[in-house]
Amino acid sequence: MRSLFINGEKVVTTQAIQNVNPSDTADVVGEYAMAGIQETQDAIAAARAAFPAWAAATPQARHDILLRAGNEILDRRRELADLLAREEGKLLGEAEIEVVRAGHILQFFAGEAVRLKGETGASVRPGIYVDVTREPVGVIGLITPWNFPIAIPAWKIAPALAYGNTVVFKPAELVPGSAWELVDILHRAGLPPGVLNLLTGKGSVVGQAILDDPAVDAISFTGSQATGKRVAQASLAHMRRFQLEMGGKNPLLVLDDADLEIAVECALDGSFYSTGQRCTASSRLIVTNSIHDRFVEMLAERMRRLVVGDARKPGTGMGPVVDENQLRQDTDYIEVARRQGGTLRTGGERLRRETPGYYLSPALITNTTNDMRINREEVFGPVASVIRVRDYEEGLSVANDTEFGLCAGICTTSLKYASDFKQKSEAGMVMVNLPTAGVDHHVPFGGRKGSSFGPREQGAHAREFFTEIKTSYTRP
Ligand code: NAD
Repeated sequence: MRSLFINGEKVVTTQAIQNVNPSDTADVVGEYAMAGIQETQDAIAAARAAFPAWAAATPQARHDILLRAGNEILDRRRELADLLAREEGKLLGEAEIEVVRAGHILQFFAGEAVRLKGETGASVRPGIYVDVTREPVGVIGLITPWNFPIAIPAWKIAPALAYGNTVVFKPAELVPGSAWELVDILHRAGLPPGVLNLLTGKGSVVGQAILDDPAVDAISFTGSQATGKRVAQASLAHMRRFQLEMGGKNPLLVLDDADLEIAVECALDGSFYSTGQRCTASSRLIVTNSIHDRFVEMLAERMRRLVVGDARKPGTGMGPVVDENQLRQDTDYIEVARRQGGTLRTGGERLRRETPGYYLSPALITNTTNDMRINREEVFGPVASVIRVRDYEEGLSVANDTEFGLCAGICTTSLKYASDFKQKSEAGMVMVNLPTAGVDHHVPFGGRKGSSFGPREQGAHAREFFTEIKTSYTRP
């Protein structure tokens, strides 16, 4: 059994989580410890005790550990990608891109640890100087989803540690393997006991116990809106800071003047990369009249050519859905869309392969309107719907008519429309002639409206959440 990490010790439990391969449910990736309330409290106490020394550690010491860990991740990219693809169902190539991103994130924040600066200036009063400095926040609870099993933990853990915080980390139940490797690598890179604690276990038990504990100073959460609301309510009760990254219903607007090849590539990648299980997935394809039929035809054709199969098999173009619950949710939404008047143009069928797995052909639903449930609620699977619009103005208004605001894309050759869209989109991230995603690790990632709450993640902006500001006045 793979252990928890509490105060630098590997702790095993009587109960275990089975980590199952969604490409082959007969393949058990491993057994992982299942923490309960007691282990959660022990981990929080360990993080509390380790905080003063880690907060006082030199930036160089923090830099060296993060850099060593980042380097090891990059050196072991193939092996870690294989584990990720096996436990989550992402294609090997996609998994390797994610692992490399995690390595780069650790290297980037190694640099950030030594780059952290304050400000100093004259006061408005004579003979007085003002300093603005940044300090660590304290013990941070990190709660992550299953769809990016190593990158999301890395982009929360790395800034938390770089700026001198200690961490209690709870990964999603479905993907304990990548989380365990990441924490193990960081420990072997030299992290002192208690600075980073890993609690694999249930959200309703371990996650909730982290939320309920007043000794946790801040929570950074990525996951569904429903859980995000619980995080917000529990955090407000303790007057603690929190950061939420949640779902999306991301639009990709395709205009008549778009390069058709590029638009179809953007839709294919944006909607079905990672089996559509991305918070940034293009789930609403909003297409103007004159290009609509050609776009739909070409996209449907490309989708039919995508080989759905085992994530680790050469030649596979789309891996399985992550589990039975998610698969049911995907097919239920397809059915709801049909009942409300949508046409299932292609896909949406459960497929049989050599091994038992959660295989679904990518689904395209046409003849939808923006008020249908398929266009209001996040599906989180390989399901995209098409909304026909008259012109750019109507397309922009439909794109913004959503409670979410994570990412939005436009395909056009018009500088005028591209510039206008960048300005008027109500999303936190905007793509022009690119798939909706959030790829670069050195710039802010996050959304607006119902998709996000609090400061942005990633890049130097991460310091807004992971540090506290202090203003000091001195009369020399
Ligand atoms: P989820 O909300 O079910 O779970 C997320 C995490 O919260 C898991 O670790 C889970 O165990 C934990 N959790 C569950 N109940 C809890 C509770 N009562 N208290 C504390 N923690 C609890 O989400 P998921 O199914 O793992 O992930 C899919 C969702 O994540 C989608 O909505 C997707 O859009 C979103 N997501 C958002 C981003 C982003 O950056 N905006 C990125 C990836 C995924």
